[in-house]
Amino acid sequence: MRALAVLARPLLPDFLDGYTTVIGSTVYLPDLPHRIPRDLLACILCHELVHQLDQRRFGPLFYLTYAIPPAGRTVRAVWERRAYTVDLLVARELGGDRGLSMAVDRLVTVFSGAGYGWMWAGRVAARAFLAPTVEAVASRSVDREAPYDSIIEAWRG
Ligand SMILES: [Zn+2]
Repeated sequence: MRALAVLARPLLPDFLDGYTTVIGSTVYLPDLPHRIPRDLLACILCHELVHQLDQRRFGPLFYLTYAIPPAGRTVRAVWERRAYTVDLLVARELGGDRGLSMAVDRLVTVFSGAGYGWMWAGRVAARAFLAPTVEAVASRSVDREAPYDSIIEAWRG
């Protein structure tokens, strides 16, 4: 993992220090699990679960397309939009429309910024790219789609 962090450092300077990732069945967290607030840890693990399901379903295609260097609009953004759907669901559950709106603003920065290597071209384009997912979360239609149906049911307990 350290070697991966060194290789990724020019594009992702905070890799390993501030990010979570999953490779196969192992989730790498930015801190010890007991030091991460419970709700945040649950959200992180649900996000990584979506990546694990995609990795299992798509195999090498997932890893190859995720790793393609950034070029403004990447397949990585498609995978991350699928996983960040969980973050939007949780934001809606915890904070309603206002929580969802704040999460969207944060994700626009995530998708257009350096954190993931500028995986989408600019804030306006990132907001437009996220819009169909945001609408599906706001209207609750995504609550009936796998794997989000199971995830949100588990989140609610
Ligand atoms: Zn992710």
